Amino acid sequence: MLVLETLKAFSETGRTALIHPLGSLSYRDLEIRSDAFARWLLDTLGEDRSPVVLWGDKEADLLPCLLGALKSGRAYVPIDSVIPKDRAAQIVAAVDPKVVVAFTGEELPWEGRTLSPEKLEAVLSAPGEKVPPENWVQKSDPAYILFTSGSTGRPKGVPITAGNLDAFCQGLLPHYPKEGGVILHQVSYSFDVSGCAVYAGLCRGMTLFTVDHQMAAGLGECFDALERSGLTLWVSTPSFGELCIQSQRFDQRLLPHLRQFLFCGEVLTHALCDALSERFPKAQILNTYGPTEATVLVTAAEVTEEMRRDSLPIPIGKAIDGVTLRLEQEGREVTEEGQTGELLILGPTVGPGYLGQPDEAKKVFFIDPETGLRGYRTGDLCFFRNGLYHYCGRADNQLKLNGYRIELEDIEENLQRLRNVRRAAVIPVRDQEGIVQYLAAFLLLQESDGLTPLKRAIALKKEAAAYLPPYMIPRKILAVESFPLNVNGKIDRKALAARLEKTP
Ligand code: AMP
Repeated sequence: MLVLETLKAFSETGRTALIHPLGSLSYRDLEIRSDAFARWLLDTLGEDRSPVVLWGDKEADLLPCLLGALKSGRAYVPIDSVIPKDRAAQIVAAVDPKVVVAFTGEELPWEGRTLSPEKLEAVLSAPGEKVPPENWVQKSDPAYILFTSGSTGRPKGVPITAGNLDAFCQGLLPHYPKEGGVILHQVSYSFDVSGCAVYAGLCRGMTLFTVDHQMAAGLGECFDALERSGLTLWVSTPSFGELCIQSQRFDQRLLPHLRQFLFCGEVLTHALCDALSERFPKAQILNTYGPTEATVLVTAAEVTEEMRRDSLPIPIGKAIDGVTLRLEQEGREVTEEGQTGELLILGPTVGPGYLGQPDEAKKVFFIDPETGLRGYRTGDLCFFRNGLYHYCGRADNQLKLNGYRIELEDIEENLQRLRNVRRAAVIPVRDQEGIVQYLAAFLLLQESDGLTPLKRAIALKKEAAAYLPPYMIPRKILAVESFPLNVNGKIDRKALAARLEKTP
């Protein structure tokens, strides 16, 4: 596996691999501690290859445990510490691990071995031999299992193999700076975008600069740390970028070495690109796209001034090396420029399916009869124009309101064109039968307008009428100070809906 090979190579150099709130780990430390964890797993579990659960935030030793699991031939399952215990227990029940490393210091209701941080230190500092590559996870073995929210309300396990991750690194690395540098390590391990730092970053010999939950919650403290970080490559969701740009401190003076922003996971807006280009004139912006099922990201677009000026959405770009993309509509390939279709991903980054849910997997994973490639139907609607893919919403986020067909993203994009609106999130409000009754929009304003909520809503609706037909203008328009984010750093639409219930 690429990351384990490069780790070994860099361990001779004295480079720093990880900076965390309490200190740092060199590539050598990472190599020694991950080997120690792998030896312990091999000694303790023998032939049993069940995955290892890593339950925490971004504690320093989570990374050596993650790499150690891989070196022992086992997958790991990261569970973020903010996940409620009940949901964490559901994941553990689905995985049936023999070992849980609980950085949270808590116990789960489950019969197996829990390693607390104290016990872990003895394991990681035990001297011993390197674990040979024959023991490592092999190409078709699962390397991690991530749990995404399932339509049933229970988390759905997505295994990703070592081969998938190697293909992802090979596809992404041509977009990274040549060697070295400092990369932001803010995205939760339980969200695959963290792989941009953990896999691609380590493969490039970069230093991962940790921003944990506590730091991300208090931007002042976070910026104080970032100011001393020497950060060269920023990786986050656009929403975290939005949060940061609200502070006037967030500019090139704070991060003088920053040369690239990499965004993934949700729509990257024109407004954010414009604000970042102004504040960080030396940094390039990369918009990337991908679902967990096809390993982190499969497209990339370097955002140009022309794209920023264009009325089209910011493109998600072209397939990264090794990946094949195709648009389909009603079973037929879409070849016409500008015509919308469902995006299909084919190639070596497409994962093996869903954990214990073969029927669910059959609906979306397939083998392409023509090429023999493994494929995944994303449910994302895209069109191709000027050599680039553009994302235009979910196939399943389309709704009808009073007979009119509406795409929520369409409304959001248009509300974002209003003079004082930075970001919009629109939510359908449904009745008990699930029929949409009306739409509510939550808006993050560029600056305070000093209006009462009622006067503001009236003014914004009037302005929106220039871009949207009346039936697409949300009935309720509410300004928010910031958007609640879910554990993956995306806008938490459920939390917004709950907020709406409390609003008269
Ligand atoms: P996840 O599996 O949590 O990474 O979510 C994948 C979904 O996020 C995709 O299927 C898209 O709907 C959305 N997504 C990811 N990246 C982008 C992007 N750059 N622009 C728009 N939507 C995105």
